[in-house]
Amino acid sequence: MHIVVVGTGIVGVSAGAWLLRDGHRVTFVAPDAPGEACSFGNAGSLSPSACLPVGMPGMWKQVPGWLMDAAGPLTIRPAYAPRVAAWLLRFLKHSRAHEVERIARALRGLLAPIFDAYAPLLEHAGAQALVRRSGCLYVYASKESAARWRWGMDLRRSMGVDMREIGREELEALEPDLKGRFRFGLLAPENGSTLDPAQLVKALHAQAITDGAADVRARAVGFERRGDAVAAVRLADGRTLACDGVVVAAGAWSRTLAAQLGARVPLETQRGYHVTVQSSNLKLAHTVFASEYNLMVNPMAMGLRLAGSVEFAGLAAPPDMRRADVLLAKGREMFPHLDASRTSQWMGHRPCLPDSLPVIGRAPRIANAWLAFGHGHIGMCGGATTGREIAHLVAGRQPQVDLSPFSAERF
Ligand SMILES: Cc1cc2nc3c(=O)[nH]c(=O)nc-3n(C[C@H](O)[C@H](O)[C@H](O)COP(=O)(O)OP(=O)(O)OC[C@H]3O[C@@H](n4cnc5c(N)ncnc54)[C@H](O)[C@@H]3O)c2cc1C
Repeated sequence: MHIVVVGTGIVGVSAGAWLLRDGHRVTFVAPDAPGEACSFGNAGSLSPSACLPVGMPGMWKQVPGWLMDAAGPLTIRPAYAPRVAAWLLRFLKHSRAHEVERIARALRGLLAPIFDAYAPLLEHAGAQALVRRSGCLYVYASKESAARWRWGMDLRRSMGVDMREIGREELEALEPDLKGRFRFGLLAPENGSTLDPAQLVKALHAQAITDGAADVRARAVGFERRGDAVAAVRLADGRTLACDGVVVAAGAWSRTLAAQLGARVPLETQRGYHVTVQSSNLKLAHTVFASEYNLMVNPMAMGLRLAGSVEFAGLAAPPDMRRADVLLAKGREMFPHLDASRTSQWMGHRPCLPDSLPVIGRAPRIANAWLAFGHGHIGMCGGATTGREIAHLVAGRQPQVDLSPFSAERF
């Protein structure tokens, strides 16, 4: 079949790569170069352990404090607050314990096979060096905050995630740069990360082009239908692309396209920021997540990346780089000896649904349209598996992952 894949972030490119392996003809459509949207500047963590939703039990108690604190991990732009209020209420509903357990089980199914799903794509593209499995350290400065996270950690463990508790001495032996600030750690040895998420997407996309995929640089605006099927994708420049099927993987921009395919989903953007310290003098061997700082730190090819922050302000508002300054200030607190003389900053749009689960599946009532978006904080982790599962659906094969929690019709 000729499948048009809308979007060239990690999700769309992975879907295209898996579809090519099945012998389909693939055309990518996106307004910008591959890997230049949210997949560009994320923290690059590839974590089978990242199966907890963003909203956790009791989190609501911290929200007012976060909102009052200019350096807090969460901001809502006042003008956007009325638009996001209902979404936030839904989000809180999904942060209750029984919901968190259900969501974690679903995410674990998607994330456990991360490396199996990436391996054939990386090998084929000769891009194995962009992914390493060096483990992740979750670090805590106080007993109290470690205790706050225990329930979630135990939940992860109950689902087969390997997490080892380590004391201060072992922590500092593993990462001497963390000396003096953290008392407890949890080591997730199976986790990995990419040295450059944008390059990873570009490498897979370049291989897809070598394998015969076409690339159209344009914005998709809608579809031409023939009965209950999509016959063509309509582009903003007036062209149409005839196809036998379409995959919508346009990240945070997927909502209006999905709606035209009968899927009304509450897709919101949680804007996140990074600072990359190009001159970093740190010698970290693991990705490090510091929960008190709400900061993910990853040593990457281009420097030390400090990433995090959640900002609700919609798709159109310009970035507020003070959020990135806050990340750097936190990084300096964590690593007082950090040489941050050369840095770059970035903002990206995480595509988020209120239950922290993506949408993966066939569009309701359309025979040949599939949806793959809404991966929120875990799109790099879930990209390759999502692509593989979409290829199974397109081929009419049984998915390897239970996709029922990811249906667009759950809303
Ligand atoms: C600060 C930060 C840190 C993060 N850290 C991690 C991490 O460590 N690990 C992890 O797994 N995830 C992380 N994430 C999340 C991850 O980056 C996203 O989930 C992921 O990049 C989403 O990929 P995507 O392909 O769905 O979307 P994107 O990468 O945003 O791609 C969307 C694509 O759709 C295209 N598009 C948009 N509109 C249209 C249209 N109308 N027609 C055609 N194409 C269109 C865009 O041009 C783009 O090509 C982080 C995110 C942020 C912001």
